[in-house]
Amino acid sequence: MTDFNYRPTMNVGGDGALYIGGMKAADLAREYGTPLYVFDEDQIRLMMRTYKGAIERHYGNGLPLYASKAFSCLSMYSIAKSEGLGVDVVSGGELFTAKKAGFPMKNVFFHGNSKTDEELKMAVDFRVGYVVVDSAEEAKILNDFAKEKGRVQNILVRVNPGVEAHTHKYVQTATNGSKFGFPIWDGRALGFTKEILGFKNLRICGYHCHIGSQIFEKQSFVVAAQKMVEFFASVKKECGFTPAVMNLGGGFGIFYEGDDPKMKPEDYDGFVAAISDAVTTGCKSARLKKPRLVIEPGRSIVGEAGITLYTVNTIKNASEDVRYVAVDGGMGDNPRYALYESRYTVLAAEKADAPATRKVTIAGKCCESGDMIAADVYLPDVERGDILAVLSTGAYNYSMASNYNRNVIPGAILVSGGKADVIIKKQTLSDLTRGDVIPQRIKNK
Ligand SMILES: *Cc1c(COP(=O)(O)O)cnc(C)c1O
Repeated sequence: MTDFNYRPTMNVGGDGALYIGGMKAADLAREYGTPLYVFDEDQIRLMMRTYKGAIERHYGNGLPLYASKAFSCLSMYSIAKSEGLGVDVVSGGELFTAKKAGFPMKNVFFHGNSKTDEELKMAVDFRVGYVVVDSAEEAKILNDFAKEKGRVQNILVRVNPGVEAHTHKYVQTATNGSKFGFPIWDGRALGFTKEILGFKNLRICGYHCHIGSQIFEKQSFVVAAQKMVEFFASVKKECGFTPAVMNLGGGFGIFYEGDDPKMKPEDYDGFVAAISDAVTTGCKSARLKKPRLVIEPGRSIVGEAGITLYTVNTIKNASEDVRYVAVDGGMGDNPRYALYESRYTVLAAEKADAPATRKVTIAGKCCESGDMIAADVYLPDVERGDILAVLSTGAYNYSMASNYNRNVIPGAILVSGGKADVIIKKQTLSDLTRGDVIPQRIKNK
C-alpha cells in the first residue's frame, strides 16, 4: 500500500478506503461528481493555529498571514478571519474576494511587482493595512492616490536579502536577477528608502522579503532573518528611523510524495522558533527595537489539507513500460506537472490499502502531451469508473486552474467531522460561454 503523511482527519479506514474529514472520499466523488477538490477544514485550522500559537509563544509581537494565492475563495478568507490571521493578496481579484468575505482590511498586505493603477486605487479605497511596494513607479502613484484621498498609506518595501532557497538547500546570492525586491547588498534598498522618505502620503512601516517556496531547510530562513536584521540596523543608521515591521514571507515545505519530510505541526512550530530566535538574538546584538514579525505561509496551510478526486476513464499501455491511467481532469485543474514536473502521491480511493504493484502514469484529458497529473506512481490495478485521490493538491491547484479545452473548472467542498459543504460551485457549461460575444458583422455573414 502507498504510504503518505497520515493524520487523524485523513487516513485509511478498516475497509481499505481513504477517509478525509470523517467522510469516505469515494462517496464524496459519487455525490458531487469528479474532478472534485476536497478540503479538510480541521487541517486548515490546525495549521493556522499552529502558526499563530508559534509566533506568539516564540516571539511575542507577531502575526501570521495566510498567503491567499495558494487557494483563494470567500470561505478561505472567512476561515483566516475566524482564526485571527492576516492575509496577503497579490492582485485586485484576491483583494476584492477578501473584501467581499468581510475580511478586516487592516490585516491585509498587498503584494505584487507590477500592480496596476486600478489595483493601487483599490488598495487606497479599501484602506488595506499595508501595500508592499516593489517599484519607484508604484511608490509615486500610490502616494498620489493617497494624497487625493487625504490619507497616509502604510507600506512595506520589498527587498531582496540575497538568499534564495530551494527544497533542500539555500544559496546566498548577491547577484541574482530576481524581478522581486530591491537588493540590500548593493545599497539599492537603502537608496529607494531615502527616495521615498520624502513622500508625504506614504508611511514606511518596514520591509518584506520572500526567499522561495517548498523549503525544508531551516537555515535558509535563519540566514534571511539575520540579513534582514542587519539591514534594519543600516536603515536606522542611514535613514534615521527604526522599521516597525519585518515580514519574512512564506515558503515552508509540505509532503507531496516519497522521501519528502512528513511534516507535522510541531515541525512548523520549529521553523517559527528558529526564525523568532534569529530575529530576537540579532536585534539584541544590534541594539534594535524588536520589530513586529510577520510570516506568510500559504502552501503549508492548505497544501496537504486539499486532495483532488478523479474518475478513471481509460487505461492504455503506450509501450513496454509506460502504462497510462487517464482521468477526467488534468492540467486544467492541476497544471503543476506541466509547469514543474511536480510529483504527487496517488491512491485508489477504495483500495488504498491494496498492494500498489503497478507502475503507471496518471494522464489528464487535455490535448497536450505534457498534460499529466503524476508520472511513475504505483497503484493497484484500476479500471474505468474507479476513483483516484491525488494528495496535497490544496495549494496552487484551484488557484492555477484554467478552462483549457473548455473543460469546466471543478468545484470544491469543505469537509469536517463527517459533514461536507460546497465552498466553490463547479462551473457549468453556460459559465463557459457567459463572456462570449459574436459581433454583429460576423453574425450577418
Ligand atoms: C507565494 C508567496 C508566499 C507564500 O509562499 P508559500 O510557499 O505558499 O508558503 C508568501 N509571500 C509571498 C510574497 C509570496 O509570493
